[in-house]
Amino acid sequence: MLAQTRAQFELTQEQRAVGALAAEIAQREIAPFVAAWDREHVFPRELYGKLSDAGLMGIIVPEEYGGAGADYVSYALAIEELARVDAGTAVTVSVHSMICAAILKMGTPAQRERWLRSLATADSIAGFALTESDAGSDAAALRATARRTEHGYVLRGRKQWCSTGSYAGVIMGMFRTGGAGARGVSAFLIEPSLPGVTVERVTEKLGIHTSNTCDLAFDDVEVGADALLGEEGAGFGNAMTALTAGRIGIASQAIGILAACLDESVKFAKERVAFGKPIGAFEGVSFKIAQMAMDLDAARMLTYRAAALADAGEPFALPASKAKLFASTAARKHAAEALQIHGGYGYTSEFPVERHYRDAKITEIYEGTSEIQQVIIARSLLGRLD
Ligand SMILES: Cc1cc2nc3c(=O)[nH]c(=O)nc-3n(C[C@H](O)[C@H](O)[C@H](O)COP(=O)(O)OP(=O)(O)OC[C@H]3O[C@@H](n4cnc5c(N)ncnc54)[C@H](O)[C@@H]3O)c2cc1C
Repeated sequence: MLAQTRAQFELTQEQRAVGALAAEIAQREIAPFVAAWDREHVFPRELYGKLSDAGLMGIIVPEEYGGAGADYVSYALAIEELARVDAGTAVTVSVHSMICAAILKMGTPAQRERWLRSLATADSIAGFALTESDAGSDAAALRATARRTEHGYVLRGRKQWCSTGSYAGVIMGMFRTGGAGARGVSAFLIEPSLPGVTVERVTEKLGIHTSNTCDLAFDDVEVGADALLGEEGAGFGNAMTALTAGRIGIASQAIGILAACLDESVKFAKERVAFGKPIGAFEGVSFKIAQMAMDLDAARMLTYRAAALADAGEPFALPASKAKLFASTAARKHAAEALQIHGGYGYTSEFPVERHYRDAKITEIYEGTSEIQQVIIARSLLGRLD
């Protein structure tokens, strides 16, 4: 299967059907409202019930837990189609799915039973809390603590920029149970409704306004021993494993933004007339579109390859880093070119490229910045030289 994947990437009928379903729902349930949601910074909570009815919230959750049991390639296609209409919705689904995958991989049978069913049906949306004010790329420097008690743990500390934090039914949070460094970190599944968990601040941001980002405070939050996800001390590795899969989602988000920019640019270049011709007749415009189409294809191939490797149970961390780095760089670069093709109209909120331009940037930052992806890729070739 892998050799075939490498020779020629063919999507199966099932995979195409998932992409088509996501595209259809995005057109019906998101497209008519997204400009207003973006302007008013609305987190469309009820939308996730509709996505869940279509199987998209439990897309990679096995059927035995109420999910769709689809593969990672289908997941990548679904995220791409959602992001083509709204990058904010896409990241909410992507982070949620990343945590479903983590629970599936590292959770106990009881944790899977407890959480996966409600996550697959969007009774709960999942959030991820790793970053702190002084621990971003260097996440192993985190300071929030989990102190062992007779019945479980007491959590204490602050988490920054937690996606979906204000609306989450469960948060995968990383806390220090041991000494300094990565080995002292453990992962927990935490209900934000517990006493002591508060949303301290909702983050105002440049783009992805339909997603929620917030800072969370954990003030002596008591959780049972069954809240521990994976082994004590394995939480940093578990978070990195989750983020590796998450990068397929963010690469797909970037691809969706890029595809939308290409769609809009082609349309505008045919319609807008200057000097007596459609502007697409000028090479200064048409060559930008050609580059956009080429990078879109390349980003898709890298991302589908990473997803196919994940499906085949092969190592996919390095391909996922390459996919995320390439797709996010291309999305940011071509969103700027799409805006340029639209001239002054592109700078106004009458055309969606202005939103795509604002949304594209974050794909180069979260779930590992572009520099961190390059560190990962370079280290795979050079080893650790420092
Ligand atoms: C909208 C949004 C949503 C987010 N959602 C979540 C979430 O749900 N959960 C969560 O835990 N976090 C989340 N984050 C945090 C995000 O993952 C971090 O912002 C990101 O990992 C970078 O960390 P930092 O911002 O602290 O930057 P820093 O780590 O301080 O980096 C600053 C700069 O230095 C560079 N740099 C750092 N180290 C190196 C190095 N070794 N080599 C080369 N360059 C380096 C970086 O690439 C960057 O350019 C979110 C952030 C935003 C803005």
